[in-house]
Amino acid sequence: MLVVRSVVVGPFAMNAYLAACGETGEAMLIDPGAEIPRVLALAEPGWRIGRILLTHGHIDHVAGAAEAQRATGATLTIHQADQAWLAGLPRQAAMFGLEGAEVPRPDRHHADGEQVTLGNLTATVLHTPGHSAGSCCLWFAGEDVLFTGDTLFAGSVGRTDLPGGDFEALATSIREKLFPLGDGVTFHPGHGPSGSLGEERRGNPFVGEAPRRGRYV
Ligand SMILES: [Zn+2]
Ligand SMILES: [Zn+2]
Repeated sequence: MLVVRSVVVGPFAMNAYLAACGETGEAMLIDPGAEIPRVLALAEPGWRIGRILLTHGHIDHVAGAAEAQRATGATLTIHQADQAWLAGLPRQAAMFGLEGAEVPRPDRHHADGEQVTLGNLTATVLHTPGHSAGSCCLWFAGEDVLFTGDTLFAGSVGRTDLPGGDFEALATSIREKLFPLGDGVTFHPGHGPSGSLGEERRGNPFVGEAPRRGRYV
């Protein structure tokens, strides 16, 4: 059984997630962006956090990653194409007037199609460029659960105006890699409430079947 817990952290109100195998207590963190003690408190006593997956390299998702890595000893991964965002973390922090964040050092880079084992569960990394070149989602096929980072939100999509952003790539990622996973899939985004892929496929104003961009403005 997949256990999903989340907490909203940091000045950008980002959802940090803990995913765990309820049978074995093997756990992982997805985007421990800030307020690491609160993120670590999502785990039950005795659970073992063995993996930290960064969906992409923007500051709100990664600023706390080094601290989380130190606290857990977990293996930290990000897609190669967002490595430059990590290296530029001090610059990102300065841009937002934040305290200089510690640059996390990934143990390695994850890639499209990589299998992630979490106790009795298996997930797959999906490379979904668009919000950033290295943005990835994490797909628990057996549980119909998807973590989307800033690629897809309930009723919206990630911004594409930052360096490496590409709206056409984003729309292609969502339509060709995420929607085919199935209407019944529950997704957990980097900001805001969780949703279902079916609702977004039908009604998302940016990438849904009946685009209505601007109608509500
Ligand atoms: Zn982002
Ligand atoms: Zn974000």
